[in-house]
Amino acid sequence: MYFKDIPGKKDEKQQLIQQVKLGKIPHAQLFLGKEGYGELALALAFSRFIMCHSPEKDDACGICDACKKIDHYMKPDLHFVYPMVKYKNLKREDTISNDALQVWRKMILENPWLSLSQWLEVLEADNSTPNINVKECNDIIHKLSLMAFDSGYKILILWLPEFLGKEGNRLLKLIEEPPDKTVLIFVSHHVEGILPTLISRCQILRVSPFDRDEMTDFLQQKFNVSQKRAMEISNMCAGNLLNAISVCNHDTKDYSDMLISWFRIAYGGNPVTIQEWYLGFEQLSKNEKMAFIEYGLHFLRQFVLFQFNSTESLQSTDQEKETLQKMQKVLDIKKAEAIISVFDRQLMAMQRNANLKIMFLTDTLTIGDIMNGKEYVSLPSYY
Ligand SMILES: [Zn+2]
Repeated sequence: MYFKDIPGKKDEKQQLIQQVKLGKIPHAQLFLGKEGYGELALALAFSRFIMCHSPEKDDACGICDACKKIDHYMKPDLHFVYPMVKYKNLKREDTISNDALQVWRKMILENPWLSLSQWLEVLEADNSTPNINVKECNDIIHKLSLMAFDSGYKILILWLPEFLGKEGNRLLKLIEEPPDKTVLIFVSHHVEGILPTLISRCQILRVSPFDRDEMTDFLQQKFNVSQKRAMEISNMCAGNLLNAISVCNHDTKDYSDMLISWFRIAYGGNPVTIQEWYLGFEQLSKNEKMAFIEYGLHFLRQFVLFQFNSTESLQSTDQEKETLQKMQKVLDIKKAEAIISVFDRQLMAMQRNANLKIMFLTDTLTIGDIMNGKEYVSLPSYY
């Protein structure tokens, strides 16, 4: 990963490049932003830039010995820590990131925009709750205390410190008094899940959403979609590249049809039909389910705008505009807003590894009740 592989993000890149040029790299940084904003990719590109032996003006050289090793993430002084679950035959308390290092390297090489759900899918985590455990923290302290292999920097990228829990306390001394030429980069999506004592010891880099036009160019080049289509997807995904990629890989026409048929089934409220619908829906990966719900949010927001504006001002395809018109028979602004809040909560619950089957079956009934104008339970217990 190089800075040039990340679309836009001029400010973040400049800030990081300046740190290296001025020789003022903070020993602990926290990259903060929503999943899909490219925090991990930035951390990877930044690490390469720090470790490169002959960096160019604003990116690593790509040909030095360090760059060659980083091409495969095989540089011994570049360490990774990430949430784990019980893995293979190991006991959970004995499992650390290194046990899945090969899988991790392959994953970030193929997909530096990685989401937590994609990672857990690769680990075959099912419904186990991931974390970063005591053994891992002791291992971090140990490996960063060793001499660097080539007298250069030692870097640790810790992806998702929100999974450290109180074990994070074990790292405070290391963050406060790190060995020479040691850089810790924490990459987080949920600042509220991190120990305040850890946050206060880090310099914070806020990672912004991807710029719409820059994301459009990127999608056009990488996914061979037309400019109009790339623009539609960028509008829909509001700066979230992970979702945009997911939409590119799955025609949104599918999502649009899926949403309408789901609404129809919800409106009917027949438990047997809802069960049958879920058997098909279950086949989507968690990330696809999330992208589908994001699409649902986009559709409903457009529906709300449509009640105030003409269709010309909408960021919707012609087919969607037609559907928006038809949906007026069963939806109004109040109902659309109520379903939006159901979708918002679903996204949060999916990030927290909720039981998706119970959630989607219950919510289908809730959405049906909303559409039929019935009273509904606003906050089901699984949240
Ligand atoms: Zn280099």
